[in-house]
Amino acid sequence: MTLKLVVGAATDVGRVRDHNEDAYLVDDHLGLIAVADGMGGHQAGEVASATALEALRAAVTSGEGVRDAVTSANDAVYEKSTTDDRLRGMGTTLTAGTLAAGGTLLVGHVGDSRAYLLHDGELRRVTVDHSLVEELIRAGEITEAEAESDPRRSMITRALGIDPEVEVDLFPVPVVGGDRLLLCSDGLTGMVRESQIQDALSSEPDPNRAARRLVDAANAAGGVDNITVLVVDVVDDEDATTAVPIVAPNEPAPPPDEPVEPSSAPPADQRRRPRRWWRILRWALPIVIVVGVAGGVLIWYARDTYYVGTNLSNVAIYRGRPGGVLFWNPTLEQRTTLLTSSLTGGQRQSVKAGHGQFSSLASAQAFVGELRRQAAQRTSPSTTTTVPPTTTPPTTAPPTAAAPAP
Ligand code: MG
Repeated sequence: MTLKLVVGAATDVGRVRDHNEDAYLVDDHLGLIAVADGMGGHQAGEVASATALEALRAAVTSGEGVRDAVTSANDAVYEKSTTDDRLRGMGTTLTAGTLAAGGTLLVGHVGDSRAYLLHDGELRRVTVDHSLVEELIRAGEITEAEAESDPRRSMITRALGIDPEVEVDLFPVPVVGGDRLLLCSDGLTGMVRESQIQDALSSEPDPNRAARRLVDAANAAGGVDNITVLVVDVVDDEDATTAVPIVAPNEPAPPPDEPVEPSSAPPADQRRRPRRWWRILRWALPIVIVVGVAGGVLIWYARDTYYVGTNLSNVAIYRGRPGGVLFWNPTLEQRTTLLTSSLTGGQRQSVKAGHGQFSSLASAQAFVGELRRQAAQRTSPSTTTTVPPTTTPPTTAPPTAAAPAP
């Protein structure tokens, strides 16, 4: 049975900030959901999150997997931040999911926004924060409880747009009908405990109302940051006509297909930049080299040899292999004056089939010289045992000399 995603969304500036740098994306056509939390002076954070989401959508549209698409989003944000002085230093988190065939949500992730899975009433965090506090917890230097009040909790260790390269975490999440996913910015998780999140997700069946309830809870707790919440219901789709439709019922303020923030997104062709080519080249180059070397060896095998054959009624020297190799056919190097009729029956048969594999033209010529010497020997009955070399002209024996049969 096909699965579909039913998405409820809410985003809010919070109670402290004066503008909302978070953004989200729900694209039912692509089966794509994402949350981005931008940072940077003035309006730059909003530009960063909107740019990332537009680039993400364009990359998924062009067939990239979610991890590559997040990398493309990094390219787009980095490009903008390094070419526009007003946007210098901007960055964004990005947590994006695509529903893949076989009931797996692939989550690509950079930063401290999060994805959760509610399965059988149990809430499980899918992503790992790229934050200083998370690293300190993992290193055993502080506890989860201490982290909640740690002043460094908003410091992130990885974001899009900061460096030309970014490491993207990929989390495959097997999902079944009845599961519920949560994608959110740290404006929710910094304010609301996971137990409270689990309660809200478990008790409110409508995904939009659940999203709204979580935003309200974050604001009630202080709302010190922008808050963005996607509540995603995984639903068995009995009459599915498309692969992975996403339905966003009663979407609040933003239209379902647009990021929540006004976007000065790059044109799609901006993604085709040299750095992208370099990424492609980096894995393509070894293949090109291997194919090139194999081709070279094949050409060498096909061409670096000579054989003795026939050309009309004469013995001839060819470069290549009898019959050719793939599309490299043998080429005529030299048509000798030696007539095939002057050869013995066995020699003629062998030469007609293409005789020998000579490593050089000279050694093929030497073989023809030997055939010529034997032919001359047969036409002069007196020389049965000794033939002075001087009596056998190497290549210039007139054809008529060998032609007359005894
Ligand atoms: Mg935030």
